[in-house]
Amino acid sequence: MNDNHDSIGRGHAAVKRRQPDLYHDLITPQETLAIREEVRRFADEHVQPAAWSIGHREELVENFPRDLFKKMADAGLYRIPFAAQVGGRGLKHPATATAVLIEELAYYSNSVAAIVDVHCILAGHALEHATPELQQRYLEPLLAGERIGSFATTEPEASTDLSINVMQTHAVGGDADFVINGRKRFITNSPVADFVVLLCTDNGRMTEIVVDLDAPGVRVGPPDRKLGNHGQLTADIYFENVRVPASNVVGSRGAGLKIALQTLTYGRIGIAASGVGMAQAIFDHSVDRLNSRKAFGKHLAQFQHWQFKLAERATEIENARNLYLKAALRMDSGQAFPEPEAAMAKWYATQLAGEFARDGVQIFGGYGFMQELAADRSHYRVEEIYRDCKISEIYEGTNEIQKLVIARAIFGKGVTG
Ligand SMILES: Cc1cc2nc3c(=O)[nH]c(=O)nc-3n(C[C@H](O)[C@H](O)[C@H](O)COP(=O)(O)OP(=O)(O)OC[C@H]3O[C@@H](n4cnc5c(N)ncnc54)[C@H](O)[C@@H]3O)c2cc1C
Repeated sequence: MNDNHDSIGRGHAAVKRRQPDLYHDLITPQETLAIREEVRRFADEHVQPAAWSIGHREELVENFPRDLFKKMADAGLYRIPFAAQVGGRGLKHPATATAVLIEELAYYSNSVAAIVDVHCILAGHALEHATPELQQRYLEPLLAGERIGSFATTEPEASTDLSINVMQTHAVGGDADFVINGRKRFITNSPVADFVVLLCTDNGRMTEIVVDLDAPGVRVGPPDRKLGNHGQLTADIYFENVRVPASNVVGSRGAGLKIALQTLTYGRIGIAASGVGMAQAIFDHSVDRLNSRKAFGKHLAQFQHWQFKLAERATEIENARNLYLKAALRMDSGQAFPEPEAAMAKWYATQLAGEFARDGVQIFGGYGFMQELAADRSHYRVEEIYRDCKISEIYEGTNEIQKLVIARAIFGKGVTG
């Protein structure tokens, strides 16, 4: 499908970006600043015109934004997180650049940010633990955008709690090959993906295994219908006697949970960045609206109520961006689990996006509540963000779990459990 098929680009038109004037960046490496500029140019040109349409489509396989997915591949965006040996850009600060990539995509579309987050950070990063042979088969085509990746830990009865005794997807055997049975839930990209990096039990331990989604015995259900992020397709994946070679193990047998948790820690930095991207978009659209809309003979911006509200949000965006950059820089310095900053960044930035989305709709009044105004087909970014932002407080570790991670750093595991 042409991603721009029904976008009229009105109401959603670009507004002045406020971040360059308000945010004095002292911590981002030059290399990452260049990535921000490159991705922003790409997003202005290719994501902005398609974003409204992507965010308002029915969740169907044929509505996956394939045009844009390919454009991102052609622009080399999926290479940003990775080392040169596997075809990546070989950056000195790959996690920081990747988080900035996610912020810049989420500024226009949280659906697109989520597609890329799962493709690159979850599926891609997990494969960094794989053998060179597996990387050649799965990671290199993922970087080229020739194969779409997905990553599965969640099950109907296991998600926040990923303990082995609740997990119901089992791989048995494993000398020459495994036989896998079970079911995964809410798996992003799965309706269009080529493979899944799967966390399952393996004879009393937990292991990550790559499974082709066209293998006999694998079935992907129809896409779920969600509150927001309509461009991001999720579905259940069913495994019935699926035979997978033992060589498809990622890392070593028994290392699955550690790899999954490390991957999700990287992921939570990405989700923090997506929260900042959404908050910045609400901010820019709100300032524009407050400066142009009048009531009682004044611009709304002249009411101190809104001046103070925007002053508070500007400060919170500053804090949220600094936090995710700090977490990413710690990851780039070799910390596989850069806590408590990663948890702080994820909780703080996504809560900010959620609270600010509520304010954003309020600032736009009735127009903020419209998906599309019948009189002139106009639409406003805050409506979509209001629906999209909620999931960022839930996926890749709920915000309650982020607070548990922070509390552990304060009180120790002996107290928090
Ligand atoms: C759009 C979308 C995309 C997703 N993509 C993927 C994907 O690609 N791959 C994947 O594997 N999963 C994916 N998920 C799953 C997602 O990560 C889970 O939904 C999330 O981890 C929460 O799990 P749950 O929904 O089962 O909630 P539950 O685990 O049932 O939790 C319910 C509530 O209980 C709270 N809770 C649980 N334990 C505690 C505690 N100890 N203290 C306090 N509160 C607690 C939680 O914080 C939450 O608020 C996706 C989900 C959605 C909706």
